[in-house]
Amino acid sequence: MDDSSAAGEDRVSSPLGTRFLLYPQAPYVSGYDKPEPVWISTPPDRLRPGPANRRLHVRDPLLEKEPYEYPYLPPFVGEVYPPAEAGPDGHFDHLSPGTRQFIAAHAFASVQRVLDIVESYLGHEIVWHFAGTYDSLEIIPWVEWRNAQSGYGFLELGVDRGADGEAAPFALNFDVIAHEVGHAVLFSLFGMPESGLDRGDFGAFHESNSDLISLLCFMHFDTGLDRLLRHCEGNLLMLNELNRIAELTGDRQIRLAGNSRRMSEVSGEIHDQSRPFTGAVFDTIVSGFHARLAERELADARLLEIDIHDVDAAQMQRLSQFTAGAFRARPYLFKTALVEARDEVALALVQAWQRLDPDRLSFAEAAMTLCECGDAASPELAARFEANFLWREIL
Ligand SMILES: [Zn+2]
Repeated sequence: MDDSSAAGEDRVSSPLGTRFLLYPQAPYVSGYDKPEPVWISTPPDRLRPGPANRRLHVRDPLLEKEPYEYPYLPPFVGEVYPPAEAGPDGHFDHLSPGTRQFIAAHAFASVQRVLDIVESYLGHEIVWHFAGTYDSLEIIPWVEWRNAQSGYGFLELGVDRGADGEAAPFALNFDVIAHEVGHAVLFSLFGMPESGLDRGDFGAFHESNSDLISLLCFMHFDTGLDRLLRHCEGNLLMLNELNRIAELTGDRQIRLAGNSRRMSEVSGEIHDQSRPFTGAVFDTIVSGFHARLAERELADARLLEIDIHDVDAAQMQRLSQFTAGAFRARPYLFKTALVEARDEVALALVQAWQRLDPDRLSFAEAAMTLCECGDAASPELAARFEANFLWREIL
């Protein structure tokens, strides 16, 4: 078999999907300056230049484009940069970082990666909330705008510019993309309230759960989890400490999730209001992780005596004593425990999202639904959710 027919066969039948390069965190974050190979589910023969597949396509405007705002909506019909094209083997991991085509491919693969992960929890494909109008999400990877937005049929990514004017495109920031795709996923799963988006807890709940989608997706980078656990030597609560020195981890998702805000402590601002719910769900991952460490005798069972909501310096040190040596001895079993804790929470979340009524949505209602969905998996999980929502003053 010669090379060309081998490549041709791969293009047609690769059940593994297609390789792209992704940065698990924005490339300026220390320790994350190299992109990593990631497989997305679309096989090479189902990808077109752009990149594009059945549900997503990139259009990279050649001239400066205004951000979409009703009634200005897709499709974008102006001139575009040459699209990213697959290499001879059908994959997209040959593109050079720094080129428009690399950026286009990065934005595309990040979106598809989020869909792959959420759909793997759902067990079926997500139908876009805009499917009645558009078949495919239009991704605009570069707009001169210090923001990002996901709207009806589009995802637009702006650029952050430092004092030196150097561009940090959000198209290379997996966290920003996953958060925006999170909004689109949530709209697709439980819709919009008839009475408008700024009613009750709807907006704050959306922010919280888009952050959680980003966090869960980050926790699917194999190397991301390794780095996370090594940073804190198996003591996830330490991340709160590391967060104060943000450049050490740079992980915005963790910084947001590892917060200790209760409902009575937040302002009316939508992002502020979203934090207690995000924190309660993150704490449920942490407590599920601790329960597994103790149960499997991977760490001292006295670990469970520490109240994770209220840890002073002395307790933090005790916690680290219980985990650090044990983690160094069995890092991969720690990782397995964390992956399981992540997945049980993610499964309950996707079930809850599908049961929510957007017109009656409140944090309390969502928390109760999540406890019920957790209970269907295990009473222990339901109890963990409940304790964490109670502490946050959500239930
Ligand atoms: Zn948002």
